[in-house]
Amino acid sequence: MKLIEVKNCYKVYNNGVTAIADLNLSIEKGEFVFVIGASGSGKSTFIKMLYREEKPTNGSVFVGGINVAKLRNSKVFKLRRKLGIVFQDFKLLPKLTVYENVAFALEAIGMHNKDIRPKVIKALENVGLKDKMRSFPNQLSGGEQQRVCIARAIVNEPRLLICDEPTGNLDPDISREIVGILDKINRELGTTIIMATHDRDIVNKMKKRVLLLDNGVLAGDDKKGSYVVHESN
Ligand code: ADP
Repeated sequence: MKLIEVKNCYKVYNNGVTAIADLNLSIEKGEFVFVIGASGSGKSTFIKMLYREEKPTNGSVFVGGINVAKLRNSKVFKLRRKLGIVFQDFKLLPKLTVYENVAFALEAIGMHNKDIRPKVIKALENVGLKDKMRSFPNQLSGGEQQRVCIARAIVNEPRLLICDEPTGNLDPDISREIVGILDKINRELGTTIIMATHDRDIVNKMKKRVLLLDNGVLAGDDKKGSYVVHESN
């Protein structure tokens, strides 16, 4: 089943920059896909369209059967509920514990405490951080903070986990650990994962599908791809 289907998609920003041009692709349920490309090639724009942070100028972007290009603003929260999103900067709430940071998303949708607790514990177990649930973010390493963000993103059991440069601020060893956790989530929970990255070593090691963007155009789509970006900077 196709989880994502992008057809003839364009994104032209108000300043006239074409960030995405005639993009066509589909992603099946359960895939793990890297999105690579030089800085400015359109990776973030593509990722942002999936969770409707940006709206395509033309064409369609179906996520779980919903055309996000046509989705009313008032329905965007419904789409986001079905997605998990992990960013480069951790965006944890500093005054809340690890447990509370993960529980927060479920409280916000009105779930009862007795239902929240087992879900939060399970999500923290999935990222190997159950023993740190009473810690505060500033008591954790960068890698641990990113693991909390992953737990927060998967706690509502989304079908799709979107990661925008999740290892961008982390050392190589820790980055490998983070991607290992994402790989485990993909294999064990069946979560579809889309990850934009600059990390050559990780892409080459994982041998997953790789989408290459070049100036907003899909320049490569390789089933067991490697990192082939020629950075000019
Ligand atoms: P990447 O994530 O690969 O670095 P982006 O999607 O951020 O690429 O950017 C693609 C192009 O769109 C770049 O030329 C960038 O300058 C431009 N761009 C990105 N966001 C905006 C915006 N909000 N307004 C105008 N131009 C933008």
